[in-house]
Order: sequence, then structure tokens, then C-alpha cells
Amino acid sequence: MSSGYHCQSCGEWHAELPRAWGVETPLPFLLIPPEERAVRCLWDAETCEIDGREFCVRGCLEIPVRDGSEPFSWGVWVSLSERSYQRTRELWTTPGREQEPPFFGWLCTALPLYPSTLSLKTLVHTRPVGKRPFVELEATDHPLAIEQREGITEARLQEIAGALLHGPSPGHE
Ligand SMILES: [Zn+2]
Repeated sequence: MSSGYHCQSCGEWHAELPRAWGVETPLPFLLIPPEERAVRCLWDAETCEIDGREFCVRGCLEIPVRDGSEPFSWGVWVSLSERSYQRTRELWTTPGREQEPPFFGWLCTALPLYPSTLSLKTLVHTRPVGKRPFVELEATDHPLAIEQREGITEARLQEIAGALLHGPSPGHE
């Protein structure tokens, strides 16, 4: 079955429905002036440490699609305690690390299409080596938390995809 769809935003047929969208760095990092980052931050594609006191990891905030197969995955960053962050790094290549109890984390990515997603409370579930952690939002009435809890329809997924492809522009808070 093709994953193509008729786009409500532009009226065209798109060959592929995006199933993931994310950002490369956490928001606190983006707030550091670019010329200071090399001195104040230690980062790679998966982890980011700022001023030795803010500790972020990249994860997947997955939204189940009720009438589809794969979930939609928002690529987000969460801020952990220093202890949880060090533990995460310690376990990076340890087989069976998914046995680790979840870590508490603050969402530190401003996702488009929702009321502010900054500082939502999460649980960060470690997954097998090579897989980014699963980010579970606290069960509140925030629209993103509701979507994660209840799942979305394929139609809503197309609406999200359309907005990501054609605007509104991301990053509003
Ligand atoms: Zn379109």
C-alpha cells in the first residue's frame, strides 16, 4: 500500500506522508549565542550539556495512529537531572539498558502546531542500544498529551503533515 495522500493544504498529491519531524538541538542550546556555544556546550546528535548544569537528551515523542500502522514520531529534546543524564551516558552501549526505570525529564523543544510544549513533564524510557528513548508525556489535558494518550486518526496525521510541509511556520510559542 502506498503511503501517498491527497494534501488538504495544497491540493496536490504527495507521494509520501511524513511519519516523523524533529529538531537537531534543544531550545536552551539555541538560546546560547552561536559564538559562545563551543565554550559553554558539549553536544552531539543525541546529547547536549550546557554550562555544566543543563543536561538534555534527544528522544522520540511518539503518537499512535489509530487507523494506521506506525506511530508518528516527534523528535524532541528533554532536560534530565545531572544524575539521570550521567546514568544515560553510562548505559549508552550496555545491552539490556531498556531495563532501566524511566527518568523524569522536562520537554525542552517547542513543537509547532500546539500550545507551548516547553517544560511539559515527561518520563523518558530507555530503549535498546541504538534506539532513541521513548518520551512519555505526563497525562494532562495539553492537546499533545491527549493525542499521545488517545492516538490520532490518519486524517489528523495528514493535517499535521500538511502544516509541517506548508506552514504555519514552526517555532511559535
Ligand atoms: Zn501539500
